[in-house]
Amino acid sequence: MISYTGIRFAHTEREKRELIDLNRGLIILLLIQVLSLASHIANGLHRSALMTVVFIAGLALIRLLVWKGHVNIAKISSITLINYNTVSMAVFLGEHTHVIDFLLLTALLPLYFFEMKNKRLIFCGVALSIVPFAVYYFLSPYLSTYGVPIAEQLVVNKTTEPVKFFCLVVLLYLIYHKNSRYELEAQEKEEQLIGQKKLYERLLEQIPIDIVTFDKELRYSYINSAAISDPVMRKWMIGKTNQDYFRERGLNINGATERDKILHEALEKGTALQMEESFLDRNGKLCHTLKGASPIYNENKELLCLVGYSLDITSMKEADEQLKEYARELERKNDDLKHFVYATSHDLKSPLRNITSYLQLLARRNAGKLDEDSVSMIGHAINAVKHLNQLIRDIYQYSVADQNDKPTELTNLNTVLEEVIKNAGDTIFKKNAAVQHSTLPKVYVAPAHMNMLLSNLVENALKYNKSPHPQVRVDCLENENEYIVSVADNGIGISERYNKQIFEIFKRLHNASQYEGTGVGLAICNKIVGNYGGKMWVESEPDKGSIFYFSLAKKAVDRKGNADFKMETEVFDEIAKAS
Ligand code: ADP
Repeated sequence: MISYTGIRFAHTEREKRELIDLNRGLIILLLIQVLSLASHIANGLHRSALMTVVFIAGLALIRLLVWKGHVNIAKISSITLINYNTVSMAVFLGEHTHVIDFLLLTALLPLYFFEMKNKRLIFCGVALSIVPFAVYYFLSPYLSTYGVPIAEQLVVNKTTEPVKFFCLVVLLYLIYHKNSRYELEAQEKEEQLIGQKKLYERLLEQIPIDIVTFDKELRYSYINSAAISDPVMRKWMIGKTNQDYFRERGLNINGATERDKILHEALEKGTALQMEESFLDRNGKLCHTLKGASPIYNENKELLCLVGYSLDITSMKEADEQLKEYARELERKNDDLKHFVYATSHDLKSPLRNITSYLQLLARRNAGKLDEDSVSMIGHAINAVKHLNQLIRDIYQYSVADQNDKPTELTNLNTVLEEVIKNAGDTIFKKNAAVQHSTLPKVYVAPAHMNMLLSNLVENALKYNKSPHPQVRVDCLENENEYIVSVADNGIGISERYNKQIFEIFKRLHNASQYEGTGVGLAICNKIVGNYGGKMWVESEPDKGSIFYFSLAKKAVDRKGNADFKMETEVFDEIAKAS
């Protein structure tokens, strides 16, 4: 219980043990002094008893320091107190042997109270102890007149001798006990450290990266087997520099200087550095490595070692290069395809126009001469050419729907829709239809994209509709992340099993005699919407109408420039005009 007093101030196990040792030492000193006091009183030596009381009071004060947590001050104070007590005893008793006995004690006490590595504290304690002895030799001739009579001195000597002897034995035992315990602990710690070192080394061996450590002089202190596979060489390299290694291997010494450069730089800057290095190996193959150096410091910011690593990134680089090549190739092929589609659609336009013109001419010039079948066949041929024209135009539009050459701009979807309705005016009138809409948002998009998207949906809503009064309604909802536009109609509807298929290119649910079309419109819409981070879906039931939805991601359409989508509207317009 006593030995643990003040323990609350100890942070580590070591501090705890130091406190226990200090408490033990103080308790023993206290016991000895109490014994001395008793014998002085029994022998009627009141002056000596008074000094012993003063000493006991001093010890009590030191206990108080320990209790308050001032452990180091208590350690220094205990040595100093013992010395001052010794000097005063010697002065008043006038005997020099007494001083020598206690000098022995003070020499042993630092050993007991302090760890040897706590040099600053030992120095303070001993330095303070020297003062009273220096003063003693200087003052003793003047103070000897106050000395105790010889008879009394003899009695004091007789009583204190066994006490001093006892004190020495106990102290020696404590020092022996403490040292042997520390030795054992040091041994255990060393074993622990060796075990840990082995574990870390094994871990480092498992990593397929060249890892080495250097000391302050940039000499190798550890090399893993990924860095140097030959164990003999690895052993040889410990303590050697890069220069030594390059010389030994007969390599160009400039390589060593180059390697040291990054290490020096990391040391100078005190931070981790990383760089890529490319070189030709023995077979002339281009290799790439990622090299790095990182200084490791202890808590006092003293350099412990420098870790160097090197990772072979040749395969990664090659894969990266290959990927870039694939991307370039893909881009080239895309360009080719684009040009092909453009050229085909462009070049086919005029022969198709000619075919139509010649067919019409044929029909006009031979009006009345041709039988009914021939007239009907010419009509079919003209329609087929018209369909082909439409198909070419649609395919072209599909191919450029995800190309964005024009910057997006703040577009009022209401205006775009009004234009779409205006363009579909004829159909609306003929079909006795109505197209209504609520307020649509303003978004950063390419207006031509939105025009094509809404045109396709509105035209489909009117086309696939047998109602005497086709009704189309366009609305917009918004949530935290997107705008959702819906185009609802009261048309023929779609069976649920086709809900996904209709967005695929060339997927049609009806033949041309039922409803004209190419099966490309919704695929174009889907592609456009994808450009703005959105998607398309449909809710429908046969004969109950359909609601087509498309979403636009706010992060793509809410701020100018976010939607990095442009389109080739110029070519687009040209195609539209031509058809
Ligand atoms: P197209 O209209 O040229 O055939 P789309 O890609 O626009 O091509 O449409 C694909 C198919 O989806 C159409 O053939 C049609 O069967 C169906 N569809 C599209 N819109 C509607 C609609 N509003 N109501 C019913 N069916 C529709």
